[in-house]
Amino acid sequence: MRNAVYKLFILIIIVLVSGCAENVGNESGRSEKKPKNIIIFIGDGMGVAQLYAGMTKSGKAFFLERFPYSGFSKTYSADAYITDSAAGGTAIACGEKTNNGMIGVRPDSTLLVSITELAHKNGLAAGVVSTSAVTHATPASFVAHNAGRGNYEEIANDFLKGTIDVFIGGGENHFRNRKDGADLTDQLKEQGFDVVYTPEDMKKSQSAKLAGLLAKEHMPKASEGRNGLLTDMTKKAIETLSRNKNGFVLLVEGSMIDWGAHENNLDYVTSETIDLDQAIGAALDFATADRNTLVFVTADHETGGLVLTGGDVKTASVEGKFAGSDHSAVMVPVFTYGPGAEKFSGIHENTFFYGEFTRLLGLKTR
Ligand code: MG
Ligand code: ZN
Repeated sequence: MRNAVYKLFILIIIVLVSGCAENVGNESGRSEKKPKNIIIFIGDGMGVAQLYAGMTKSGKAFFLERFPYSGFSKTYSADAYITDSAAGGTAIACGEKTNNGMIGVRPDSTLLVSITELAHKNGLAAGVVSTSAVTHATPASFVAHNAGRGNYEEIANDFLKGTIDVFIGGGENHFRNRKDGADLTDQLKEQGFDVVYTPEDMKKSQSAKLAGLLAKEHMPKASEGRNGLLTDMTKKAIETLSRNKNGFVLLVEGSMIDWGAHENNLDYVTSETIDLDQAIGAALDFATADRNTLVFVTADHETGGLVLTGGDVKTASVEGKFAGSDHSAVMVPVFTYGPGAEKFSGIHENTFFYGEFTRLLGLKTR
């Protein structure tokens, strides 16, 4: 009997001690929560007006409205007050301002190190998803190094350097229909990539390395057959990358908000913004369940100088005027959800985020 009481006493002590240890862990977690995964969304050209036009037109709450922290990003590049997507993407991906037109390199053409490369060096998985060709400026900034954003075939070569585990978007031609006659998908397969060309094959893939080349050049518009596919691409990338127990970094780009604004086509802008928000919703579902994922949403710049001149939330209608057909200099919004989200509120340079991503993930930089 005395022995049984003694055993019970020891058991209670063990339970109490382990309970305390857990509490200490939780409290230190509360003071500095750190994510294991980061999902970066870039709405190309998505200023506040593009976003609110999409919110109004959708007629229901955006997933983005669930993000607890927000701020602004100053987008000017190293050589221009108004950035392009190459310098804008490079600032977010690599943490330094460069000249317009440059991908993953400094103005003197020396190489920068992107957050996906740092993640890879530290044993995390990395991926990019876009509705444009994956070789286009925004996704390319996270993968490639090239002084000229138009060198698509050279940029495609950089996808073979082993830092990216998943890429899904358009751009098949830059891998398979090249001036040098090479078919880069042969090398991708040798490296263990499952190379797929249709959404159906993408969904079926069980490979830890996935190359989805879902269009010869860019994918169709959301309003012309792509509707919902960015969400499926995002889900597949998350599913594939999350096999890596060390964590992952994923870029998802809504490429065509910018293109709609260049065309001064407000319906094009709103349909693409709504589509991007759906993909953000998929990431939010994952992050909510996972509790170790930071979701970061911003734009590389605003496009078109859009002003909303009228509308009605009851009828989900919106009218706007564009000041021009190119990018503008205004600050763009930033939204964050998950561990470390509070670090991003306020006004920051577009080069600020990289350092926070690196620090929060605990990545060694050398
Ligand atoms: Mg882009
Ligand atoms: Zn543009």
